[in-house]
Amino acid sequence: MKYFDKNAWIYLDGRFVKAEAAGADLFSQSVHYGFSAIEGIRAYNTHNGTRLFKAEQHYDRLRRSCEQVGIDFPWDTNALVDKTYELLDRNNLRSAYIRPLVTTGRNMYLTPAQDTSISITAWEWGPFLGAGLISTTLSPHRRPSPLSVPATAKVSGQYVASILATTEAGKRGFDEAILLDQEGFVAQASSNNLFIEKNNTLYTPARGHIFPGITRQAVLELASIFSITVVEKQLTPDDLKTADSAFLTGTATGIVGIASLDGVAFPEAWSDTLGATIQRAYKNLTLEKENYEVII
Ligand code: PMP
Repeated sequence: MKYFDKNAWIYLDGRFVKAEAAGADLFSQSVHYGFSAIEGIRAYNTHNGTRLFKAEQHYDRLRRSCEQVGIDFPWDTNALVDKTYELLDRNNLRSAYIRPLVTTGRNMYLTPAQDTSISITAWEWGPFLGAGLISTTLSPHRRPSPLSVPATAKVSGQYVASILATTEAGKRGFDEAILLDQEGFVAQASSNNLFIEKNNTLYTPARGHIFPGITRQAVLELASIFSITVVEKQLTPDDLKTADSAFLTGTATGIVGIASLDGVAFPEAWSDTLGATIQRAYKNLTLEKENYEVII
């Protein structure tokens, strides 16, 4: 995967610089301890031009992630959104994934560094887990405990668990891992939220141990528009195994149907599921083909 070439620009602390010229500080606390915060935003090529999807929400979440772990965040959301559009323009990107990153400065002590830095990079990226249905497995790795690091903070160190789970699932031939939480309930996939369908109702793990995604919230809103009941509650592995269908949600992924769990296919044909209805509506929303807020 090539993320940039010699012509690519990135945004770094108020300036646009060539991606090639930017490098990590090897004395940064972020590199040593994973003490940094990230976001993932998508830009879509819509009939209204290139449009960021829910960019303000993403930058507000980045601010909250930083605040939760004591990283200084002196930047303004609207200014960051403007800079992101400029970045896309400079790189001629119409449909892209955008990765804002807040890093901390030089400090080998286990206290937050005083100086922080923000970068925004962007590249063309297809759907994270592909466009078709995926195979999943219950992972032996668990979601990090919210008692250790706040579950709602998108901080880099959390992703060690995600990398281990994805790698382990991949070695056993599965596309993606489903992780339990510290109490043994189903939490989510390594970097996506999970919904299951049972008897014409959607269920999704309640907040607490999960990272409550912006796409998950969009699904809850779309479901309410379509009068689909969604129950947020703790789900057991058995609830997942006996579901009629299941799907994952995330900015990079969009909405992707799950074909099977540990080799056992979910019984409902994907095209007949509530997930497929939501998937179509979500696509229309991102491409600005429908304005569901107006329909409400
Ligand atoms: N869980 C984790 C661990 C994630 O990294 C992401 C992607 N940011 C999600 C869930 C989905 O969140 P969102 O819908 O906001 O992209």
